Amino acid sequence: CGVFGVWGHHDPAPMSYYGLHALQHRGQEGAGIVATDGEALRAVRGEGLVNDVFDEQKLKALEGKAAISHVRYATAGGSGLANVQPLLFNSTTGSLAIAHNGNIVNATDLKRSLERQGSIFQTTSDTEVLAHLIKRSHLQSFEERTKQALRLLKGAFAFLILTEDFLMVAQDPNGMRPLSLGRLNGGFVVASETSAFDLIGAEVIRSVEPGELLIIDDTGVRSSFYTEDRGRAICSMEYIYFSRPDSDIDGINIHTARKRLGIQLAKEIQVEADIVTGVPDSSISAAIGFSEQTGIPYEMGLIKNRYVGRTFIQPSQELRERGVKMKLSPVRQVVQGKRVVMVDDSIVRGTTSRRIVNMLKEAGASEVHVVISSPPLKNPCFYGIDISSDSELIAANHSIEEMRDLIGADSLSFLSVEGLLQAVGRSPEYKNCGQCLACFTGEYPTSIYSDTKLPHEK
Ligand code: 5GP
Ligand code: SF4
Ligand code: MG
Repeated sequence: CGVFGVWGHHDPAPMSYYGLHALQHRGQEGAGIVATDGEALRAVRGEGLVNDVFDEQKLKALEGKAAISHVRYATAGGSGLANVQPLLFNSTTGSLAIAHNGNIVNATDLKRSLERQGSIFQTTSDTEVLAHLIKRSHLQSFEERTKQALRLLKGAFAFLILTEDFLMVAQDPNGMRPLSLGRLNGGFVVASETSAFDLIGAEVIRSVEPGELLIIDDTGVRSSFYTEDRGRAICSMEYIYFSRPDSDIDGINIHTARKRLGIQLAKEIQVEADIVTGVPDSSISAAIGFSEQTGIPYEMGLIKNRYVGRTFIQPSQELRERGVKMKLSPVRQVVQGKRVVMVDDSIVRGTTSRRIVNMLKEAGASEVHVVISSPPLKNPCFYGIDISSDSELIAANHSIEEMRDLIGADSLSFLSVEGLLQAVGRSPEYKNCGQCLACFTGEYPTSIYSDTKLPHEK
C-alpha cells in the first residue's frame, strides 16, 4: 500500500490526488482521501485506480487544510469497499481517520481480545485494530493512548492518523515500510515514497524513524518515541522491486541501488551472451548495471504494454498467466539468433520467468540466461508483501537446477545475500545494514505470532 498526508495546505485534496498518483504502483485495488477543515472529517473512497475513484467534483467536496490518503494493495483482510482506506470513525468525542501501510502480525489475537470486551469491527482489515485500541485505552491524552496502542502492535506499520486538530504519523519499531517527512510551502507532507514529494514540489526533510511518533498541527511538528525497543529493518524488496526508481529511501536512490545490484550480479556470476535485456519496468535498472559491468550491450528485448495492471495483483493463477502475456512482448528483430541475458528482479512463483523465457525462445533467441537481482525467495513474508505461503514460492520447494529446468532457461543465477547488502549500500552500523532479509534467510525481525494481552483486559 501507499500512504500520503498533508497538513497546512489550502488545497489538501488535489495535493493528495497528485501524491497518490506518484504512489499508484504501490496498490491498484482502491484509493481514498479523508480531509478536514478543522470542523469535521470527510471521505471519498472507492475501488480501483486513483483516476477511477476521484474527479474534480469529488475533490471539491474535500476542501480544508489537511488530509490523509491511501492506495490499497490487498494483503491482510481481503478486498471490498469496506476495506478501502483511510478508515473513518465518527464519534461524539471526536472523529478519527487512519491510513496504514504494512501488516500487523498479531492483529487476529488483538481483535479477539477486543471483541471479548465488546468491540464491533466494521472491516476485516488489520488496520481497524489500532482505532479500537486507541478508543478503549483508559489513558488521558490522545497521544498517550496512541502510544500505548502502538506498543501492542507487532509487525510492519506506517500509520497516518487524522483528526480535526492534528495529523499523527507513526513508524513501527523496526521501520519496515518506507515513510518520509517533507515540507510543502508552509505546511508538511508525509508519504510512503519521495516520488510523491517530487510530483507536488515538496522538499524531503528525512525518513520517519523506527518507533517514532510525529504530531503535526498548526504549531509545527513534534517528535517523540513511543518505545525504547527499536531496531532497523527496512524491507529489502522496497529496494529490489517495490519502490519507484525515482524514490529515495534513507537517502539512497532506488534506481541507483538497483543498478548496483546488477553490477554486483555481474561480479558474482559468469555468463556468455550477445545482449542483456531487462524485464520492464522494475528490472531495467539492474539490467543496465549488469550490461555496464559485463560489457554485453543492453538491448530492448522486451516491451511492456503500460495499460495492463501489475500481474501479481490479480488473484487467480489463470488470470496471472494471461496477464503476463498481455503485458509483455518480445522485440523479435532484437532477440532473433541471439544469446540473451534476461534480468528480472525476483522469482516468486516462477510464472513470469517461465513465460518470458518461452516468449524469447519463440521469438528466436538461441539461448536465454535468467539472472535475478535478488537472492532466492524461500520464506513467506508476514509484513504486507503478498507472499504469504511457502507453497507459492518456487524457491522454497526446488533447487536452483530444478527451477532452471521448470522455467526452461539455459542457466539461472541469483544474487547472494551479502551482495545484496553491499550493493544497496546502507550503513553497516546496524545488523544486516538495517534491512529485513526474512524472505531470503528466514530470520524475521519481529515475533510472527503473539498472544499480546491488552492493558485494560481483566
Ligand atoms: P513470479 O512470476 O515469479 O510469480 O513473480 C515474479 C515477478 O513478479 C517479477 O517479475 C516481479 O517484478 C513481479 N512482481 C510483481 N509483484 C511482486 C511482488 O509483490 N513481489 C515480488 N517479489 N515480485 C513481484
Ligand atoms: Fe520485505 Fe521480505 Fe522482509 Fe517481507 S520478508 S518485509 S518482503 S524483506
Ligand atoms: Mg517484474
